[in-house]
Amino acid sequence: MNKKQKSSTMKIFMGLLLGVIIGILVYNLPSGTFKDSILIGGIFELLGQVFLRGIMMMVIPLVFISLVNGVASIGDIKKLGRVGGRTIVFYLATTAFAVSLALFLGYIMKPGIGLDLGAIEQIETTVSEKIPLVQVLFEMIPKNPISAMAEGNMLQIIVFAIITGVGLSVLGDRVNIIIRIFEQLNELVMQMVNFVMIFAPIGVFGLIAKTFATVGYTVLIPLLKYIITVYIGFILHAGVVYSGILKGFTGLSPKKFYKKFFPVMSVAFSTASSNATVPINLDVNEKQLGVSKNIASFTIPLGATINMDGTAIMQGVTTFFIAQVYNVPLSIEAILTVVLTATLASIGTAGVPGAGTIMLSMVLQSIGLPLEGIGLIMGIDRIIDMGRTTVNVTGDAVCTTIIAKMEGELDEKIFNSDPKLL
Ligand code: ASP
Repeated sequence: MNKKQKSSTMKIFMGLLLGVIIGILVYNLPSGTFKDSILIGGIFELLGQVFLRGIMMMVIPLVFISLVNGVASIGDIKKLGRVGGRTIVFYLATTAFAVSLALFLGYIMKPGIGLDLGAIEQIETTVSEKIPLVQVLFEMIPKNPISAMAEGNMLQIIVFAIITGVGLSVLGDRVNIIIRIFEQLNELVMQMVNFVMIFAPIGVFGLIAKTFATVGYTVLIPLLKYIITVYIGFILHAGVVYSGILKGFTGLSPKKFYKKFFPVMSVAFSTASSNATVPINLDVNEKQLGVSKNIASFTIPLGATINMDGTAIMQGVTTFFIAQVYNVPLSIEAILTVVLTATLASIGTAGVPGAGTIMLSMVLQSIGLPLEGIGLIMGIDRIIDMGRTTVNVTGDAVCTTIIAKMEGELDEKIFNSDPKLL
């Protein structure tokens, strides 16, 4: 690691650590103007929101511009189809595996047994309505690309960007000025992302401090077994499954991967939003992991929208947890139904905080478990959300690196080099 990168990764790590420590200290202060308005609602909120809004500001322009640029430079529609197919297979397979792992953990660790229900704050939840599959498919095509961008509808933006990129590549030299403009715009948005990332350590601090000062640890205690089970799922999936497939498919070092990927994980952890993490994930994939822009600009935004292994793990463990709390035995059919619906529910989950818990109602409904169960975990959902989002974005980058290697679009020299400054 060179000195500058070390200090940038180190600073983000310090921001995270300080956020946890100061957040917990503030949680223990007596309520009042100083704690609630000056610290939590004032300083922490300001620092966190400036950073969060800064990266959110970059998501839509970055996804659109870099994807148009990436697709235009692939120039081969067959290759695009192959990359798309492989990516979806990888994303689905890892998610289905994640749910199965979670169900296994839920079964052996029994997080819902011996729970003191009286100690838990129950919160009412909204139920997600079921959207028919055909509707999901045709709604990927935007009726109006401008409103797709205004609403931040990622799948619609992806579709529009792909068609634009394919159009440019078919027209080739006739539109070389536009192609060049997109290349330059891409450099511009990447530079803007770098500006925003300067605030990452402070922003991460503000977001984490606010979370820990508000959630506090007393609400965690009655649900500790549940939280530990979910986090074991996260750690096993990231540490064993991702490391294993990365090594198995590419021969590359998982240790090196995680060293370079740490800043992305910190942003995911503190924002609890895959969408907000897209800019830094793209940046690290291209500049640190050596994935070509053609691949990353397609697979990372797509992954942020449809690939949510952490969410699937939460949904798997929570299904068992709720079944145990309400004493409902789960048959083999019910378990298989959960694997299927949790995989689909995680695909349908938006990359924003809390979305996965709302989609959980779809999984519970599919096997007739009481939806009120979701209320049991709502009070601590942010703590789980931070972990699952971290796993979600890690899965996107691992699959991306593997696909890039398969396509001959991975620069291993960059992957194996010392980390560069973000
Ligand atoms: N917050 C998660 C994400 O953005 C989605 C979820 O709630 O599970 O990836």
